[in-house]
Amino acid sequence: MSQWPDIMIDQEDIHARALAAFLGLALGDALGATTEFMSPGEIRARYRVHRKIRGGGWLGIKPGRVTDDTEMSLAIARVVLLRGQWELKLVADSFVAWMKSKPIDIGSTVRKGIRHYMKSGELEVPYNEWDAGNGAAMRMAPVALFTLGDEREFKRCTLQQARLTHHHVLSDAACLCVGRMVQAAILGADINGLRELASSLVIKCPTFQFNNYRGQASGYVVDTMQTVFHYLFTTDSFEDCLVGVVNQGGDADTTGAIAGMIAGAFYGPEQLPRQWLKKLDKQVRKEIEYLSPRLVRLSPCAQQKTVTVYTEQRGVEMEERIEVI
Ligand SMILES: [Mg+2]
Repeated sequence: MSQWPDIMIDQEDIHARALAAFLGLALGDALGATTEFMSPGEIRARYRVHRKIRGGGWLGIKPGRVTDDTEMSLAIARVVLLRGQWELKLVADSFVAWMKSKPIDIGSTVRKGIRHYMKSGELEVPYNEWDAGNGAAMRMAPVALFTLGDEREFKRCTLQQARLTHHHVLSDAACLCVGRMVQAAILGADINGLRELASSLVIKCPTFQFNNYRGQASGYVVDTMQTVFHYLFTTDSFEDCLVGVVNQGGDADTTGAIAGMIAGAFYGPEQLPRQWLKKLDKQVRKEIEYLSPRLVRLSPCAQQKTVTVYTEQRGVEMEERIEVI
């Protein structure tokens, strides 16, 4: 059965959902920064339910401020747009510039990866069994947008951006899955389509199994993806999905960012809570609104009348033709 209820998809809808994916990432990051490293019990005791963008957290940030998840995604997006194409070295250079700007937060694997590039000039870190963190999956939004409808480019850019800092089979698999889910949702997939993609990840790497959620929301990419899947598939709105995810604590800004990009694309811009958008850092919001449509315009989806969409069912890759009107 097709995962695309409509085999025709509106150009305007693609742009709207793409923007909602990028804004959703920033909202999840800003919302989750408050509860990062807290336990669900600590969050309950302090806020009952944390559902407002209020800043604070261990970083003591202003309400609406975003962290590394959004900043690194913006860095990738700016470079792609500047050159009108994927240039990995420039992405690496932009990560260096970002690290030198003394960001408010930076993960240890990311720092190690950027340092490796600075020292060696190599655009891929060596395979490392400790690289199964979520720091590459959190920056998937720009790649998902500008490779919409171009499977080969999607895979190539996904793995290249990931391995600048993280080189691990579980990180690679999660990055591909996150990107695919964002793309599928932008192109109008229903919830079963997203579930198929999550299940296909589990078939390939059974450790991602998310049916009996254990409540672990750490920066280990398996915990992260299980948290995102659990709330994506047990809620029915953008807000409830994100509130569920960030109240799980742990690496809440990144689980929030990843859930935000998928749920943002899936539910579309009308479901992004107004109060959250109002609080989001104005510069960040403006830049995302500028970058998102321009990234989509670089993709085949904005240039061709029909595109091939790749999806997975029971772990098997499939393709479908979709007409863009
Ligand atoms: Mg962060």
